[in-house]
Amino acid sequence: MYKVYLKSGKEESLKRFHPWVFSGAIARIDGEPQEGEVVEIYTSKKEFIAKGHYQIGSIAVRVLSFRQDEAIDKDFWKRRLTVARDMRRSIGIAGRADNNTYRLVHGEGDNLPGLVVDVYGRTAVMQAHSAGMHLDRMTIAEALAEVMEGEVDNIYYKSETTLPFKADLYPENGFLKGGSADNVAVEYGLKFHIDWLKGQKTGFFVDQRENRALLERYAHGRSVLNMFCYTGGFSVYAMRGGAKLVHSVDSSAKAIDLTNKNIALNFPDDPRHTAYAEDAFKFLDRMGDQYDLIILDPPAFAKHRDALRNALQGYRKLNVKAFEKIKPGGILFTFSCSQAVSKENFRTAVFTAAAMSGRNVRILHQLTQPADHPVNIYHPEGEYLKGLVLYVE
Ligand code: SAH
Repeated sequence: MYKVYLKSGKEESLKRFHPWVFSGAIARIDGEPQEGEVVEIYTSKKEFIAKGHYQIGSIAVRVLSFRQDEAIDKDFWKRRLTVARDMRRSIGIAGRADNNTYRLVHGEGDNLPGLVVDVYGRTAVMQAHSAGMHLDRMTIAEALAEVMEGEVDNIYYKSETTLPFKADLYPENGFLKGGSADNVAVEYGLKFHIDWLKGQKTGFFVDQRENRALLERYAHGRSVLNMFCYTGGFSVYAMRGGAKLVHSVDSSAKAIDLTNKNIALNFPDDPRHTAYAEDAFKFLDRMGDQYDLIILDPPAFAKHRDALRNALQGYRKLNVKAFEKIKPGGILFTFSCSQAVSKENFRTAVFTAAAMSGRNVRILHQLTQPADHPVNIYHPEGEYLKGLVLYVE
């Protein structure tokens, strides 16, 4: 077993169960671990403290276990996956007749750093974000098939764009188990085509489920603009909620196709919906003032900390346009999914935008990611999605 020795004092965060070791904390390594191999971590006093997947980069080790006697084998994956499955069942997200779309594994939030698994009906889409999870994918898939027996028959691996590209891993997307072309899943009784072959993330933004359900409650009789609609999730909920009209906008023509498909799946030939393949800023500039329910769910403006200032400016500019145009008495759902943007940062950007527009604005709800995207209490970085629901006088 490879041994990683920390510099003196660098064990403090691990003692508080934080699951990462930064490369700068390492004094020396016994042996030459390959990227993705399991290493043991020792303090400067040579005491065992944790073990995890090794990787070259700023995060050098992602902790899998704080116990020396816990082997990282198939039984290990089965234990962790069982805990994740049982948690989703016990909180009423999995095992419902009206919902078979949920996140089964959320990385650090499920003590499996680097691994994401989303369930869409009888297919699980598995995604590795670390070299270690990629190397262990076959064992993990076997464990997953056993833990989800009777519920999941197909496991699709989708990691071509999520792995560190310098690591020469050459992941190929494809089924590790089964194979299915049936890609219609159900979320709270609504049907969605899930494009796990070509779509963003694992094919769907599972993380907006509860926020979409909240939007449905506000949709009745309103004119809705769903900006950055992607697969049209918010639009479909707005339609069911009784919106007067729903306009969906995304700059990607593929996203607009997906939105139209999903609307047709649930509300065929319903004249209330129109989709536009257009840039958000251009649309917001040219649109009128007919909307009284607007959703702004842009892509992560800041992928890294150094991009923070530009990102905050982006959120501010976007939100100003919505505040300026939204009808009096309108409701704005505004989001940020950038992990690098804190709740306070985001709120300040939206606050500044409101002040620039001069509108009277109240916060109705403060939103976050749903319970199937849990935050490990020792890893606050896992909190990434934030949203505000605002009443604009
Ligand atoms: N609200 C969606 C997820 C949004 S993802 C859901 O609930 O599923 C962000 C989307 O923004 C992507 O589909 C991307 O194509 C789109 N996008 C990125 N830049 C854009 C721009 N400048 N104008 C319009 N859409 C944009």
